[in-house]
Amino acid sequence: MEFRSNVPLAHYTTFRIGGPAKLYAEVSDASELSLGYERAAKDHLPVYVFSGGSNILFSDEGFPGLILRLTDGGFRILDAGLVSVGAGRKLNELVTECCKSGLSGLERLAGIPGSVGGAIRGNAGAFGADTGSVVASVKALDTRTGMVREYQREECVFGYRESLFKRHPELVVLSAEFRLGTGADPKALLWKAESVRREREEKHSQDAFSAGSFFMNPVVLDERLREEFRRDSGKEPKDERLPAGWIIDQVGLRGRIIGHAKVSEQHPNYIVNTGGATAAEVLTLVSIVKQKVRDELDIQLQAEVQLVGFGHESAKHRRKPIENQPADESWPPLGT
Ligand SMILES: Cc1cc2nc3c(=O)[nH]c(=O)nc-3n(C[C@H](O)[C@H](O)[C@H](O)COP(=O)(O)OP(=O)(O)OC[C@H]3O[C@@H](n4cnc5c(N)ncnc54)[C@H](O)[C@@H]3O)c2cc1C
Repeated sequence: MEFRSNVPLAHYTTFRIGGPAKLYAEVSDASELSLGYERAAKDHLPVYVFSGGSNILFSDEGFPGLILRLTDGGFRILDAGLVSVGAGRKLNELVTECCKSGLSGLERLAGIPGSVGGAIRGNAGAFGADTGSVVASVKALDTRTGMVREYQREECVFGYRESLFKRHPELVVLSAEFRLGTGADPKALLWKAESVRREREEKHSQDAFSAGSFFMNPVVLDERLREEFRRDSGKEPKDERLPAGWIIDQVGLRGRIIGHAKVSEQHPNYIVNTGGATAAEVLTLVSIVKQKVRDELDIQLQAEVQLVGFGHESAKHRRKPIENQPADESWPPLGT
């Protein structure tokens, strides 16, 4: 495990934005995570853990502590329909592997960038499916105590882009078991996953420098606005929420540019780095969007993307150093 100083973070994010980490290391299992925390404690540094970098905006100043990036992650079929996977594995790869093995249930998540751990933490979802629905259990490291615990699905409190792990940033997801359907035709599953990926690409270029949808879809109970959405889109709102992209369009901000940051023309909930954008430009654009939506529609948008290194999040993420090695030695190493 290699600790490097002054490592630019932009490269590790899909936004391609962010200054340097004071200290940086890649970790692929829980013991490496623990080593990272020990080093941070010795150097009196705050720690931040991330993985795929597809739902994060690092500040232009970077992070004044140790960044640990979870990489890799094992994949094992335990018994019919039960799959064990390490948190650092790419979600998109997991989808393909399961499809190839005739295991169904993940196809609609095809094409979502990032890691399995990140997807569990944010309950990533698309096309009416979400990660939490197929999770059987999750193993997580409590970075305050160094203990690893297994959480059954009911304990994970999955909701719309919500989970226990999001509410408790001191918990780092190490691995998970997914309960999937069996006996499906692999070819049909792969075809379905591929058509989902194509549909995503049609909605928005997936290679653009962005973090996907910047805002969560807000709860909107105003019947006048809901009726307008029905008329405009020809769709029924799925639940109490309306799409943030549609709302941003209503206030005329599609295509709005600040510096090199742009509200996407294609999908106004995407904020795109058109090349060389700074985090400051993105945040200025974000605050314009939030303010206009609040002033004109009385709706408070909330960022889905995690802002890191801007000062206000540091207390939350200033995890205490681990005092003991995790007690449960039986948990599966992430990298196997
Ligand atoms: C083009 C594009 C399309 C997208 N489409 C979708 C979509 O359809 N649906 C959707 O839900 N999201 C979408 N996203 C957002 C993103 O891909 C998901 O939120 C993804 O699950 C984030 O995973 P990550 O590993 O990249 O997380 P990161 O960006 O690395 O981290 C995000 C947050 O998760 C935390 N985290 C990461 N790993 C762990 C872990 N192991 N344990 C605890 N916390 C952890 C980090 O601390 C951070 O707070 C999209 C993003 C892009 C760029």
